[in-house]
Amino acid sequence: MVLGESGFLRKIYIYWKKKIAGYLPEQFGDFVERVELYLEDFFGMEKVKDFIVAARSEKRDVGNDFYTSAQLLNYLGIGADVKPQQVKSLLEKQIKKIQFLGHTVHVHIIFAKKLKLLEGRVKIAMKKYGYKVETIGGYDWRCVTSAKDQEGPKKLSYHGLGLAIDIDPEQNPYRSYGDDEPKGDIGRYKSIVRIFENAGISWGGRFKVSQNPMHFELKYEDILNLNA
Ligand SMILES: [Zn+2]
Repeated sequence: MVLGESGFLRKIYIYWKKKIAGYLPEQFGDFVERVELYLEDFFGMEKVKDFIVAARSEKRDVGNDFYTSAQLLNYLGIGADVKPQQVKSLLEKQIKKIQFLGHTVHVHIIFAKKLKLLEGRVKIAMKKYGYKVETIGGYDWRCVTSAKDQEGPKKLSYHGLGLAIDIDPEQNPYRSYGDDEPKGDIGRYKSIVRIFENAGISWGGRFKVSQNPMHFELKYEDILNLNA
């Protein structure tokens, strides 16, 4: 997936604002502003892009050194005899490009069907609250966020299977251990979240260890029971 230039800069700003600037006390306001201008001047657009690409490939690309549920892969037609380096290309044959809530998104064909079924209801609920979706991420061959610094095989994210979407990461940021701040913008609208949950999709805002309110994924049990 190729992000536009504004997409890359937005990512930098998300990181700066949510991970660094947001934790600085109020008296650092001027400093925060100066750093933001400095980031633009100092890096320049090309450097910013390189930085993002490098950060992604080093930290989150799982390569062939990953693990995931064999049962789930088997359900998707990928048996235990398939070599790790073949899993990605086999999975990608099952990834479909769809329009969802006004955006193009790539997801697994199973997930695509679910999302299209609930789209109408989500649109109505979002309209009621005035919630406008700016970006949606889907399929991405990467490990789970919590595994990015870990050695050895990394747990494949549900995004790597095309079974998860992220809605507006900037407005619904990931929150790590022990952080009890609000669960993101979309979390304020429980009836939107419930439309997904009632369709067998888990919301990351309810994850126990660290909350990920941008994240919606097809429930493991539901996928395995689809043919039951
Ligand atoms: Zn996600």
